[in-house]
Amino acid sequence: MLANRIKLIPPSPTLTINAKAKAMRAAGEDVISLAAGEPDFDTPEHVKEAAIKAIREGFNKYTAVGGIPELKEAIISFVQKEYNLKYSQEEVLVCCGGKQALYNLFQVILNPGDEVIIPAPYWVSYPPMVLLAGGKPVIVQTSEENGFKVTPESLEKAITPWTKAIILNSPSNPTGSVYTKEDLEGIGAILKDKNIWIVSDDVYHKILLKPELKWNCIANLDEEIKRKTFIVNALSKTYSLTGWRIGYLIGNKDVIKAATKLQSQSTSNPNSIAQRGALAALTGPQDFLEQWVAAFRKRATYLMDFFKKIPGIRCFEPEGAFYAFPNVSSFFNLKASDSVKLSEYLLEEAKVAVVPGIAFGKEGFIRISFATSLETIKKACERIKIALERLSR
Ligand code: GLU
Repeated sequence: MLANRIKLIPPSPTLTINAKAKAMRAAGEDVISLAAGEPDFDTPEHVKEAAIKAIREGFNKYTAVGGIPELKEAIISFVQKEYNLKYSQEEVLVCCGGKQALYNLFQVILNPGDEVIIPAPYWVSYPPMVLLAGGKPVIVQTSEENGFKVTPESLEKAITPWTKAIILNSPSNPTGSVYTKEDLEGIGAILKDKNIWIVSDDVYHKILLKPELKWNCIANLDEEIKRKTFIVNALSKTYSLTGWRIGYLIGNKDVIKAATKLQSQSTSNPNSIAQRGALAALTGPQDFLEQWVAAFRKRATYLMDFFKKIPGIRCFEPEGAFYAFPNVSSFFNLKASDSVKLSEYLLEEAKVAVVPGIAFGKEGFIRISFATSLETIKKACERIKIALERLSR
């Protein structure tokens, strides 16, 4: 009944688990979700006001497929300030979230059999998006020891004549690791003079958990690398606008033109009201972000202290984003033999929802989102502790 292509992919595990936790809560169960990858902070008032004003002004019709010019300009200014890189409007496509930006991109650059190098742990939707575009995900495992970052050596080994692109995601979902300038130079040296696109998924770039850390984008290395790089970013995490679905793709203008054509045949423009909200978000006050990041830092510190107190858990200290990715493999036993079973056990026994590491291509781990209040995290940790103790008895 169904087309072959849809059989290639599972539903998004992050969204599925989050929906399950919500449904359990709606049914009266006291479930805490540490599965959701979305900030718990409310959308800033001035952003809401701008959207309400847009509706009242009658800004309710189709817009240009690739986004209103004012928003494109605001994105260009934002990127110039944040990345110190200059782009023109024809190099920018506004999409329905960062997700559509990535989806569009793979659809327009991949031919059947083209390979995309994806360092694991990876965000859950990269491999399915590549598969849906007829491409072949080439997973390159990274390790805790090298900070879950792809090394130039392992990257070089993974490159074949069919390699079309590589995805870099820094800060990373799910590990929180951040590539330094030196890391990127190493990767850039391998990619130099090669016909390989670089997809830089930067949706967490404003959420750095260590004040001394500086965020870097590979496109800054040199002109050649910039020409080969696509920037994917979104307003979802930075401005707490997850439900509004506004993200963007920046890069080679011919590819952007093709992606715009694809978008014209799929969703048309991103929501007009949300575009006006996004414009207010990018051009309005930015000070709230500092408080949000300070809250994320506190939560990360709490979680790391908590993990240290539990024998058997080892956790890489996240440097960015709002996820912790602890190694919980020492708890695997007959009752909870892998990360899926352990996550199910935690949901049933502790009533805490987390995402199994295997969803991110890494067995032995679970992802814990700390995009929820410190009180809730503390309560969840208490429950996890008791459930794990029970498991190891
Ligand atoms: N990116 C977030 C996460 O990883 C939101 C859900 C999704 O689209 O995957 O949880």
